[in-house]
Amino acid sequence: MSATGESGVRCPAITRSGQPCRARATANGWCVAHTPAAAEWRAKGGRATRRSERAARLLPARLQPVAALLDTALREVYEGTLEPKQATAMAALAGALVRVVTAGEVEERLRAIEAALADPRGGMGA
Ligand SMILES: [Zn+2]
Repeated sequence: MSATGESGVRCPAITRSGQPCRARATANGWCVAHTPAAAEWRAKGGRATRRSERAARLLPARLQPVAALLDTALREVYEGTLEPKQATAMAALAGALVRVVTAGEVEERLRAIEAALADPRGGMGA
């Protein structure tokens, strides 16, 4: 087995970052992301992508660029242009950031509920 993988053949595509794709080529000579059929899959996946973009907009504003960054990192690890170790560190930091942001939001909502309960005439639509 060579250092370049089981087949020894790398995908000949150039990634968006301008570096050669380092993913292993499949039988047709391209990796799964760059195979000619991938354009068709992406077109079909467009609907799902739009759904996931809508879902991403529901994220706290602070986390939206983090989600985009993780999305890019996922593709880059697959293409072999990002060190998996680096992506693992990014995922750990993103997880910590999510916990901090979430804790802050829960605290904010709790205070709003407590304030509304303390003043029965105000808030909560009561
Ligand atoms: Zn490729």
